Amino acid sequence: MQDEVLILGGGVAGCAASIALARKGRSVTLIERELMPRHKVCGEFLSGEALEDLHALGIDVAVLGAVPIPYVRLAAARRAAEAPLPFPAASLTRKTLDTALIAEAIAAGVRVERGRSVQALSRTTTGMWQATLDDGISCEAPTVFLSTGKHDLRGHPRPKDPQRWVAFKMYYRLAPAQAAELASASELMLYPGGYGGIQPVEGGIANLCCVVQQRYLARAGHRWDGLLAKMQQDCPHLAMRLAGAEPLLNKPIAITHIPYGHIRRTTQNGLYCIGDQAAVIPSFTGDGISIALHTARCAAAAFLADEPAPLFQARLRSALLPQMRLAEFAANGLNNALARAVLPFCLRVWPGVMRITAQLTRVATQHSDVAPQAIAG
Ligand SMILES: Cc1cc2nc3c(=O)[nH]c(=O)nc-3n(C[C@H](O)[C@H](O)[C@H](O)COP(=O)(O)OP(=O)(O)OC[C@H]3O[C@@H](n4cnc5c(N)ncnc54)[C@H](O)[C@@H]3O)c2cc1C
Repeated sequence: MQDEVLILGGGVAGCAASIALARKGRSVTLIERELMPRHKVCGEFLSGEALEDLHALGIDVAVLGAVPIPYVRLAAARRAAEAPLPFPAASLTRKTLDTALIAEAIAAGVRVERGRSVQALSRTTTGMWQATLDDGISCEAPTVFLSTGKHDLRGHPRPKDPQRWVAFKMYYRLAPAQAAELASASELMLYPGGYGGIQPVEGGIANLCCVVQQRYLARAGHRWDGLLAKMQQDCPHLAMRLAGAEPLLNKPIAITHIPYGHIRRTTQNGLYCIGDQAAVIPSFTGDGISIALHTARCAAAAFLADEPAPLFQARLRSALLPQMRLAEFAANGLNNALARAVLPFCLRVWPGVMRITAQLTRVATQHSDVAPQAIAG
């Protein structure tokens, strides 16, 4: 089979790009390895930019049950402080969001192949891109959008993660008093060796998502029970939130080797890398989905304007670099004992800290797009 564009990976970025292209009349096939959307390791925080992009795609998060998140709370050791978020935000499970995005892609005319995994992506002698699927069948197209998220395709690796991060997600039904106290805040908890976030999602449940370094996990005996106990010991705020809570998954979902800070330098003609395949921002910013939507929108615009993929990728890198480096710098700060001790205090006496950090670590909005460049002659 042959299409104008093949999109590999039907998460946030892949769906968003496919919708944008199909709405402009392009023939698009999207290949997604899962038959149905599943839970993903994600804090499920939707920033203001993500909400804008989803709205433009026709996704009404309020109708899907998204919980508005007007506050952020920061907890470290025995201190906690709260500040209003300087932009509208919400939370929604990835399962619900991904289901809505796939449905929107199908409605836009995208041919969606689900339950089929891409094994390799290579170039044919005629210059076409060829994706080989797990059943041995190949699909060819002159243009490919690579949107496999955290998963690298053979021949298209990202650099290794030197800090060896591991992330976990678990849903809980909190005890009523704790659910009432969490209310509609996103809580960021800091401990030596990582950080975690807890926030309400639709259905009256809470999402606990945490990121830890391998050595912290090793000290917890490489076990979820041990890790949970250690995080609660290091951050009593978490112990308080989880008192009497009921876990809702048999075991947490986990991923390893997250190359935080990676921004793709270059690509080949006809290959646009988007979402986590373009850039991986530290999770505490809650900005990964927004970057996925942003890079998808910009790549679709670049393709429609005939901008060569290598030029697009280089410009995207320059546009993302300042915010990414700042987010990395802040993430390293969270890992510092002194910063952990003083941050909640700073937030309490000067709530503007949160506004400034949130704005500086945010990636370009609709108004500061990576506009496609005119191609010389
Ligand atoms: C711990 C943690 C917490 C986070 N919290 C937040 C948060 O609160 N807010 C936020 O905005 N961002 C958050 N993020 C980041 C966010 O989850 C990602 O940036 C975002 O999901 C990237 O979207 P994507 O489309 O690139 O990838 P994904 O959404 O992961 O989609 C990739 C898709 O490709 C498919 N796929 C993979 N390999 C293949 C293959 N070989 N063949 C076919 N299909 C394939 C997968 O099944 C998947 O559906 C968090 C990340 C982590 C690690």
